[in-house]
Amino acid sequence: MSYFGTVLLTRSDTAMTRLPRIEAIGFRHRRLRDLGDGWQVLETSGWNDPPDLEQAVTEVAALWKASVFAAYVADCCAQLHGAVPDAATWSGHLDDPADADCGMLHRPPVRAGGTFEALEAQIINWAAAAGLTPSVPRLDHALHYRLQRRDSDDGPYLSADQQIFEVVRALGFPVLPEPRAYEFDPDDEPFAEVTAYMWGLASRARSAAAFRAHTGETEQPAAWEAEAIMLEMDVYAALYGGGRPLAELAAQAAWVSAAHDAARRNTPPPPQEVMVQGRPVTNMHRIMHDHGPRQIADQVTFVQNHGKEMPNGSFFSDRITGPGLWPDLI
Ligand SMILES: [Zn+2]
Repeated sequence: MSYFGTVLLTRSDTAMTRLPRIEAIGFRHRRLRDLGDGWQVLETSGWNDPPDLEQAVTEVAALWKASVFAAYVADCCAQLHGAVPDAATWSGHLDDPADADCGMLHRPPVRAGGTFEALEAQIINWAAAAGLTPSVPRLDHALHYRLQRRDSDDGPYLSADQQIFEVVRALGFPVLPEPRAYEFDPDDEPFAEVTAYMWGLASRARSAAAFRAHTGETEQPAAWEAEAIMLEMDVYAALYGGGRPLAELAAQAAWVSAAHDAARRNTPPPPQEVMVQGRPVTNMHRIMHDHGPRQIADQVTFVQNHGKEMPNGSFFSDRITGPGLWPDLI
């Protein structure tokens, strides 16, 4: 399964999702694991990823007065960053630190000249500054494993996100716990219509805004659009408590849904095709308009039939919880 998103590690008394400026890294929070002593690791993503993580982790490390480790996983590779307050942020790339031309989008772009030795030293220095005691043999194994076994079929397969979590284990968290339970399910009613990935009203509103900016269209956004975007942020910010009350979020979801329904009844559907650089192309907004409601209904049916009683962002197979591949390397 493809994985695109940020794995973020820091230490705080507050749930990471409630920390200021977390949205610079991501707002679509998925799994939060408590690692003990205030350490937490969060999987999150945003809109139009990847964010410029080098800039974002530098900013939040200063703001949170904490050490921050982050990796944006782009399916087959990942860019890693480490920040501590008042020090330069470092960046590195896996599975191959030297592959500045891996073909995936990274922000900032991967710099040439990376080596395993430099990356490993940066991670060990970061861990020391963060007050952690890493397992150097395990870190060494985790960093090299995917590149070195690329052409061999021995040993278990390790995806890029699993590799990042092996690095997290090596930092001193050898057994990763199950994610913290949500206070409510963001993928079920009444929020699915707004939060659904790609088909939800918040995604559609963001997409419409980007389209208007791109084409210079001056048409005013519908009234529900800004509300949907704000509601989506607030829903995810409230996943672990401490955010807006659930009843208030549900009332806003009902308002957005009704306003969207009214707009849908009162305006013609978007055209089937739009002109891009003088040529007609299929209009994504029409596809979303026509198929969005069915996609969202299917999602809700799935969640209600297969969802967990205590949802926590993990589904059938949780590949991350547990001791990982090399529990004996300490
Ligand atoms: Zn890459």
